Amino acid sequence: MSRTPRMLAGLVAGSALLAAAACGSGSAQTSGQTSSQSSSQSSSSDPDGRPAVVAAIYPLQWLSEQVGGPDAAVSVLTAPGVEPHDLELGAQQVAQLQNAALTVYVKGVQPAVDEAVTPETSFDAATAVTTLPAGEDAHAHEEDAAHGHEEGEQAHDHEGEAADPHIWLDPSRLATVATKLGERLAAADPAHAQGYKDRAARTASALTALDQEFSKGLATCTTRTMVTAHAAFGYLADRYKLQQVGITLDPEQEPSPARLAQVATAAKNAKVTTIFTEALVNPKVAEVLASEVGARTAVLDPLESKPSGDYPSAMRDNLKSLQTALGCTA
Ligand SMILES: [Zn+2]
Repeated sequence: MSRTPRMLAGLVAGSALLAAAACGSGSAQTSGQTSSQSSSQSSSSDPDGRPAVVAAIYPLQWLSEQVGGPDAAVSVLTAPGVEPHDLELGAQQVAQLQNAALTVYVKGVQPAVDEAVTPETSFDAATAVTTLPAGEDAHAHEEDAAHGHEEGEQAHDHEGEAADPHIWLDPSRLATVATKLGERLAAADPAHAQGYKDRAARTASALTALDQEFSKGLATCTTRTMVTAHAAFGYLADRYKLQQVGITLDPEQEPSPARLAQVATAAKNAKVTTIFTEALVNPKVAEVLASEVGARTAVLDPLESKPSGDYPSAMRDNLKSLQTALGCTA
């Protein structure tokens, strides 16, 4: 099957599969519509005249709030606790998004959003950073083969190629996104340009500090292999020189017995102590795997939905979980 480079999400069944493969995160949320937090937001500015900024998913909401500060009215499309990648948009949400001064999203997470955005008033955060192919880990080649990459095709940044969308799990990449977002908001609302740029600079330096905590915290570890529920942590692994073994690319797809055996072998060989689960994924598979390899389970949050704290606190929890699991001495 050949794929058109520009996929019409929702019309081409294959695109939904591809997006699920690229992002995938969680529970079998198949209910059609998810609610917006501020569906009343339907013009490009709020009653106070602040520009409406619509963030597609939680990490971008957090970032938009940091950078937008009191100058922007930020809302989020994916409600807390909702698995984001199969989000469908109602007419009101499409209008909200199309009337926004700026929509902040990552292409490849949510086909419905990819399809609804207007280029002039949207910011694909992935364009600010160097992306990795979806599912890059020890098994990247098998996964790529399974997803129909053609012989000799390079896995990097091709038009229509599925890049791994989980860029927010690398704080250093998110710092770069913060700076670009400041520029985009400054352009959209020139009267408050300085405020956006100042807050973007502060946010970027806070994220850089977080990045340094990760670098230090994960410098010396007994094992550098992390087994995750789905392959969401490719950027984190890339940044901190870890190997991710994602049990699946798409958590809604049950891993095959062959894949489970493969992961179990990889986990044993790497002396893995912990199989990671995530809040929106059924932990059953991880539990079975953990008992088979004599490991325990722990939560690693891909931040695809709002955590109980915020982005930095959830990332610090992730760091602690990783340090324990990998036997790191900080
Ligand atoms: Zn995901």
